[in-house]
Amino acid sequence: MKNIYLFSEGNGLGKLILGGKGANLVEMKRIGLPIPNGMVVTTTACKNYFESKNSLSREMIEEIDVAIEKLQKETKKSFEGENSLLVSVRSGAPVSMPGMMDTILNLGLNDIAVQRLIQKTKNEKFVYEIYLRFIEMFSEIVKGIPREKFVKVKKFSNGKSEKEIVEIFKNIYWIETGEFFPENPKEQIKMAIESIFNSWNNERAKIYRQLQGIDESMGTAVVIQEMVFGNYNELSGTGVAFTRNPSTGENLLFGEYLLEAQGEDIVAGIRTPNSIQSMRNQLPKIYDEFSEIGKLLENHYGDMQDIEFTIENGKLFILQTRSGKRSPNAAVKIAVDMVKEGVITKDKAIMMIDTELLPQVFNGTFEESDLAGKKLLGKGLPGSAGVAVGKVALSTDMVKEGESVILVRVETSPEDIKGMSLAKGIVTVKGGATSHGAVVARGMGKCCVTGCESIKIDCSEKFFHINGEKIYEGDIISINGYNGEIYKGEVKLKKGEISEELKELLEWCKEFKKLEIRMNADTPSDVLVGREFGAEGIGLCRTEHMFFEDEKIWSVREMIIANTKEEREKALEKLLKLQKIDFKNMLHKMDGMPMNIRLLDPPFHEFLPKNEKDINKLAQQLKKTSLEIGTRIKELKEENPMLGHRGCRLAITFPEIYEMQARAIIESAIECGYEGSSCEIEIMIPFIGGISEFKYIKEGILKEIEKVFKEKQKTISYKLGTMMELPRACLIANEIAEESAFFSFGTNDLTQTTYGISRDDSIKFIDHYKAKNIMKRDPFQSIDTRGVGKLIELAKELGQSVKPDIKIGVCGEHGGDPKSIEYFNELGFSYVSCSPFRVPIAIVAAAQSAIQKRMG
Ligand code: ADP
Ligand code: MG
Ligand code: MG
Repeated sequence: MKNIYLFSEGNGLGKLILGGKGANLVEMKRIGLPIPNGMVVTTTACKNYFESKNSLSREMIEEIDVAIEKLQKETKKSFEGENSLLVSVRSGAPVSMPGMMDTILNLGLNDIAVQRLIQKTKNEKFVYEIYLRFIEMFSEIVKGIPREKFVKVKKFSNGKSEKEIVEIFKNIYWIETGEFFPENPKEQIKMAIESIFNSWNNERAKIYRQLQGIDESMGTAVVIQEMVFGNYNELSGTGVAFTRNPSTGENLLFGEYLLEAQGEDIVAGIRTPNSIQSMRNQLPKIYDEFSEIGKLLENHYGDMQDIEFTIENGKLFILQTRSGKRSPNAAVKIAVDMVKEGVITKDKAIMMIDTELLPQVFNGTFEESDLAGKKLLGKGLPGSAGVAVGKVALSTDMVKEGESVILVRVETSPEDIKGMSLAKGIVTVKGGATSHGAVVARGMGKCCVTGCESIKIDCSEKFFHINGEKIYEGDIISINGYNGEIYKGEVKLKKGEISEELKELLEWCKEFKKLEIRMNADTPSDVLVGREFGAEGIGLCRTEHMFFEDEKIWSVREMIIANTKEEREKALEKLLKLQKIDFKNMLHKMDGMPMNIRLLDPPFHEFLPKNEKDINKLAQQLKKTSLEIGTRIKELKEENPMLGHRGCRLAITFPEIYEMQARAIIESAIECGYEGSSCEIEIMIPFIGGISEFKYIKEGILKEIEKVFKEKQKTISYKLGTMMELPRACLIANEIAEESAFFSFGTNDLTQTTYGISRDDSIKFIDHYKAKNIMKRDPFQSIDTRGVGKLIELAKELGQSVKPDIKIGVCGEHGGDPKSIEYFNELGFSYVSCSPFRVPIAIVAAAQSAIQKRMG
């Protein structure tokens, strides 16, 4: 196979062979754009070079010579002849590797060519400028001679002629390398090619590839291209422009150019470039031509382009095009606009969205320009997307309504819910991305930084230390939930929003996706948020979350502390009324969409008072002594609550709790029906591990529901099913399916119990597993498809073997994780449920995986 192709010969070879830069140059040449002639040394040549012990084989050298001959013919120029050929030698790997390998300009110059060129151009200053620049670049890039050595010479050589400086430059080269500067252009080219090939293996490039997971064996291509000169005269210049604004997405050229300048001058920052918009007045014809080419390239590649160009003596040349990087906001706007302009189809637009970055669109970000000069105090882990600024509060009591506060805690517990809901953001010292703090914050759509171990909260609870700084309660900090950074003082925020474009995109997603996207919603306000974001139902309503609100907690405590069934029933009576208010509120707002309500799940002790004040208050309320209450609290304490008296186990000991909840749900639904709202009810039993356990509980609930039907003289339809979150339940899923109307996989607990890793403790070691490549991803973030997934697949198969149409969904954190969503889509689940604030991400991810699947 050939190793070198002229641009005119390389049609259709693609990026893997020609590299990104080369392939696009070939393509642009083919469609007739103004591209300087050139050729591409392929990635195959690079691989051959490595195979022949980092040397150019004789065949390669012959091929280079032949290709140069052809290029000379095509350009009607030559290295030796009157009409001097000058080229750039540019690296270009199949995937963009920014800043890894450099470009050499003006190659082909030597003392003789310089004289010819001066004669031809009558412009000695220009010719020497490019000659010096060539020697400098070649020395740096091919031989690694520091640039400063040359810069210094230029600076301190007042009065010296350019010719003399050339001699000094060559001398530096000689001193540094012990070789003469190569005068023969072909020799220059070969050396440049070799150095670009070698740069594939430099440390920086290797590390970058490792981080990005780029294939090591791919190799790089080399582009050799006839030079055009932006520094030729006042009608010349060079520039870079995006076809649309990369930070707002506005459909208007955005970029910069400099007249009388060559390539790198624009980024070198020596002269201030002009905005591309001012080219409209300065060079209107070129502006129009360029913007037309921009449109053409956008249409051709179906994406916004980042274009490098040069103008030589009033003529425009395109030197590079590629897909432009853009902000998450711009990405959405550009994708939607391009569909409306007829440039791309809807499915393509959906595939263009990076779900990882989507939260920034509606949660806002720091104003990038405001970060400079701000003191970075420390870094934790990204707990929940968003940014926040506020005064530090070290306890929930210090979070005052109406103030901007950042709650900083060692770790959060259910008692902190109120403080968390009032705070602008949350920081925890301990815990990972799946700790209580992070999970609750995500549920609230609140910015959260977790696991910031460098924070040491003083025992006075008045201040904390962080990396040598002392931060008092009331001091202002700014936190970034995308990357875990914590800054001192206020960083300006850029607000997020659900733009019209995003709304439109989400609508399109619904045309493609197969999965239903539900939300985990515990309150009426969750419902409003989730529905605004496009949720199609509730996949998990955690009844206990309502228990923490306001005065309800006291009735809950009364119920738990109760020593007898009678006492408990009295407390439950009160709770029944309160729960009904909550359920009805939510059901009305759901407008007939399915609502899956999980009966009480957490161990009792989570609800109990933790401090003396509250213990006394409870004692008073119940007309008992504080000692009695204290003793009862001790009795309820468990060694390992995660695996203790929780979930449906509570209902084995106290059946009246689930019966009350079932009654509240059914009564609410019937009453809502009378009030004009239709309801689709699913009742879910958590933590089921055995069939007899499930049957026992089910029987009690059914009896209670029958009672309600009789009392109300009305029946409604509802579904009763199980949460699948214990390995044993998965293993006997066929038995459970006989009795259960649906399976909802609780993937958090299923991951915990399958791995035998407690989520809250995992932070201490999961990172080490990741660092040592023992685990690729945190299984609490992205579902472990090989192990936990095997249980899920087995359960699905067993369940469907007895009940082919059993409804299967997911309600764990994984329901909002794009990678996991792709997996659940593959398995043909009917829905995933996630925090209301992740609903848009889940919608896009579900559409993307459906489109991907369709494409095969
Ligand atoms: P990078 O991959 O770092 O962008 P390039 O190979 O695109 O490097 O080269 C950088 C710049 O050098 C280009 O943007 C262009 O301004 C200039 N350049 C490269 N080749 C030529 C050429 N044949 N004629 C004029 N300028 C060139
Ligand atoms: Mg470039
Ligand atoms: Mg669970």
